[in-house]
Amino acid sequence: MTRIYSEREFEKIRKAARIVPQAFQEVAPNVQPGITTAELNRIADSFIRSKGAVPAFIGVPGGEGVEPFPACCCISVNDEVVHGIPGDRRLEEGDIVSIDMGALLDGYYGDSAHTFAVGEISAGRRRLMDATQESLQQGIQAAREGNRVSDIGHAVQAHIDACGGLGIVREMVGHGCGRSLHEGPEVPNYGEPGRGPRLKAGMCLCIEPMINSGGWRIRLLDDGWTIATADGSDSAHFEHQIRITKGDPEILTSVD
Ligand code: MG
Ligand code: MG
Repeated sequence: MTRIYSEREFEKIRKAARIVPQAFQEVAPNVQPGITTAELNRIADSFIRSKGAVPAFIGVPGGEGVEPFPACCCISVNDEVVHGIPGDRRLEEGDIVSIDMGALLDGYYGDSAHTFAVGEISAGRRRLMDATQESLQQGIQAAREGNRVSDIGHAVQAHIDACGGLGIVREMVGHGCGRSLHEGPEVPNYGEPGRGPRLKAGMCLCIEPMINSGGWRIRLLDDGWTIATADGSDSAHFEHQIRITKGDPEILTSVD
């Protein structure tokens, strides 16, 4: 189901959403060689709680026979795409690390993801990160009243195709977000323009391209949660939660 939110509701969504980029600001200086992903998770978790919010990913149900998600952040390193479980893995110089987190405040959710460089990274990894972030901006620009949902994914795809040699993850999509962490509509990161539901002012969407430096296919690791690239290539992930308006979209998960 796709909800249309009122201005009053957006006041609450905005407060929840804003906690996430603030948490990223706390985490960012700690993304250094030698730190464990569990330590990064702990920093984000305590920051979100210090704002009176609840880390939204804890307890998200897993697949059949898989434990609910146990942590505040999904932390996915190098060839891991999304849904990595924080643990004792130590980041190394040259890694790229994607961190995805959500905050629940006063009944409304914020959700955003960012890929960080660990120290100096290769030109290929930099290019992947830049292309992914740029494709998110292209998708956001297409997210306005009167367009259709697939215009967002088409804009993401047009940018990634123009970059060349990169794969767009197809099975994982963006989503509506507000009263629930995940609600309609699904927002794919590829496709023909002019398809799907029409975008209306008051929709609240998470746009989140996941881009691989190789092929688009993914695989599920043995922990039942972590998604990795099938071919072992690197992956980057950027996500913003936005409000559809009659004009330019409002980015809710930005501190600017
Ligand atoms: Mg997210
Ligand atoms: Mg999301």
